[in-house]
Amino acid sequence: MKTQNLGYPRIGSQRQLKKACEQYWAGTIDLKDLQRIAFKIREENWQTQLQAGMDLIPCNDFSFYDQVLDISLMLGVIPKRYTPVLTDVKTNGETDLYFAMARGYQKDGLDITAMEMTKWLDTNYHYIVPEFTADQEFHLFSQKVFGEYMAAKALLGKKAKPVLIGPVSYLLLGKEKETGFERIDLLKKILPAYIAVLNRLKQLGAEWVQLDEPFLALDLSAKEKEAFDSAYRYIARETAGVKILVATYFEGLLDNTQLAVNLPVAALHIDLVRAPEQLNEVLAAIPDHLILSLGVVDGRNIWKNCYERSLSFINKAIEKIGSERIIIAPSCSLLHSPIDLDLETTIDPEIKNWMAFARQKLNEVADLSQIVEGNEELLRINKNVIESRAQSEEVHKKTVKERVAAIHESDAARKSPFSIRQQLQRNRFQLPAFPTTTIGSFPQTDDIRQLRARYKKGDLTLAQYEEAIEAATVDAIRWQESIGLDVLVHGEFERNDMVEYFGEQLDGFLFTKNGWVQSYGSRCVKPPVIYGDISRPRDMTVRWSSFAAAQTKKVMKGMLTGPVTILQWSFVRDDQPRSVTTNQIALAIRDEVLALEKAGISMIQIDEAAIREGLPLRKSKQLQYLNWAVKAFRIAASGVADQTQIHTHMCYSEFNDIIEQVAAMDADVITIETSRSQMELLQAFAHFKYPNEIGPGVYDIHSPRVPSVIEMTDLLIKAATLLPAQHIWVNPDCGLKTRKWPETKKALENMVAAAHKAREKI
Ligand code: GLN
Ligand code: ZN
Repeated sequence: MKTQNLGYPRIGSQRQLKKACEQYWAGTIDLKDLQRIAFKIREENWQTQLQAGMDLIPCNDFSFYDQVLDISLMLGVIPKRYTPVLTDVKTNGETDLYFAMARGYQKDGLDITAMEMTKWLDTNYHYIVPEFTADQEFHLFSQKVFGEYMAAKALLGKKAKPVLIGPVSYLLLGKEKETGFERIDLLKKILPAYIAVLNRLKQLGAEWVQLDEPFLALDLSAKEKEAFDSAYRYIARETAGVKILVATYFEGLLDNTQLAVNLPVAALHIDLVRAPEQLNEVLAAIPDHLILSLGVVDGRNIWKNCYERSLSFINKAIEKIGSERIIIAPSCSLLHSPIDLDLETTIDPEIKNWMAFARQKLNEVADLSQIVEGNEELLRINKNVIESRAQSEEVHKKTVKERVAAIHESDAARKSPFSIRQQLQRNRFQLPAFPTTTIGSFPQTDDIRQLRARYKKGDLTLAQYEEAIEAATVDAIRWQESIGLDVLVHGEFERNDMVEYFGEQLDGFLFTKNGWVQSYGSRCVKPPVIYGDISRPRDMTVRWSSFAAAQTKKVMKGMLTGPVTILQWSFVRDDQPRSVTTNQIALAIRDEVLALEKAGISMIQIDEAAIREGLPLRKSKQLQYLNWAVKAFRIAASGVADQTQIHTHMCYSEFNDIIEQVAAMDADVITIETSRSQMELLQAFAHFKYPNEIGPGVYDIHSPRVPSVIEMTDLLIKAATLLPAQHIWVNPDCGLKTRKWPETKKALENMVAAAHKAREKI
């Protein structure tokens, strides 16, 4: 039985690439050093995969920044604004051009913006969006793929398998930079460039080439389907002898099954972790030459594979098409997994024994192939592990399960409808029109970060640490009072991160030391792991909220992270539906909301930054998700009295397709991001006649730029033409933790002044 891997993390087990890139950008190492470090990571990765016994091992999956940007450079898709970087003799040619495209370029009097970045499908990885023009040309530019293939070949021989993003998905991942054409129409022009690459790889000795086509597993228009068909017919005609593996992942082929299995390619990879139900359909439709790569080991999570389950898929496939036509693989590139569980020294050994990171996942793939060949022992060991997790009292808490099972419809509804609550809350808070507030965090300065680091190292006692955080909180409160904000926040100085802070205090979460996953470029995140039933052993935020509230006569908002966001930014359990895990978190947050209310906190914000991010890729699955996600928020929010005001915050602005569900969350006040769109994005709320109160962000917190009073006043007046003026709050787009104090102060002072101006005008 053959095995393969689709891609391996490239940041390095000690995040060497992150550090090297950042040093290179800072000018403290030179290009040779950077290349040496990169070379070493690639070599180590290949050795690891070789030792694990993979039959096909990816190359060109390495990237200094992003694999989509690599393809743009390979095909010469370089926006004109970067030409000066290439011609500047002082730069390191292609490498500096590449980083300029990724990060922008400000040097030698040049000031060139970076290319746009966006989420890679439904992951937390972000890619650089290709920019296409109507007269777009494609020609071989970067030779990276050939270099990496030759190095891989030297080490791996025939096993080396170059990886590229396929032509159709590459086009669909991009964006038209001018009107008058559709990017998919560039197919005819892009294909010859791909042919040149494939034939060159063939010439150099490549037997297999992997073309990632994740869009084959998404909703496609008729035209896009046709593009897949004609692209791969063309490739089959123009390339002889190189075997193409088309890789799909993150969803099932569904209505694209016939299309996918009939592409004239050697092999097709399908994701059986995300979409196990597609196996039957694929097997029923598969023509008798096609090799099928079964993605059975989860590339998106950190749990050990259940061999019995994987074997049921593998055996079904063997029965239908025979073992010679099957390859066993992870579900997707392991880019989305942390690298090596062996580096974790502090995880409870019982739980650690249930986990697998990228390196361990390779062994799982190899194990599965050996089990098929008769190694019963490996199966037996795995069964014991799976069994121990299923039975463990660390995981399964009867009281938590019973409480979730007993959730009643009435738990997910406020006592009275919004109109009644609104009146009661108006009487209680007596706020002016256009009330001003902020989203929660204030600048996390180096001083604040160092406090936490010193406390963790033991250089500060808890008392010293808390005293310093209290001082920062008091300063922030005094300052908010001084500029005349209406509703204050405590500033979140005690928090490292809006999810980690809660995860650390809830039962059922654990934290890794090295479980980094690339988010974009040199940035990595270390998501918490939800391993067991979740409960809240004690109050989490009451101490800080009460402290802050006691410092002022003004209203102090409590500040919590919502259940869907906590779920979405963690590695989650794979032994129960996500909705169940979310409801467990929702109950914990509900208890915290009630504890805050009891402590006298009268306004409580529950951030749901990630609801939209969790939206399934396929339209047909979105409604079901939204239903349970909204319900979880309502469970968290609905325990309070009518007079207690619940806020929520979402840091994005595309609400057209989810507006009904956002309204169904029934938060008394929602704050959203809208400033960069000049309030255009409020249209969705206006159309829907959004009934509750809303704070459309009036300034962009992603930039240090200080917006003027007039600018923000205009935005407020504009908002008031779209929605009832009495419903409008005044706030920035998002939290201010990444900003510096000087610009924050000026911007918020201007914001308060803008609210005053707007009050005069209505
Ligand atoms: N309350 C959080 C903050 O202000 C919200 C952050 C977010 O939505 N990403 O930082
Ligand atoms: Zn936000």
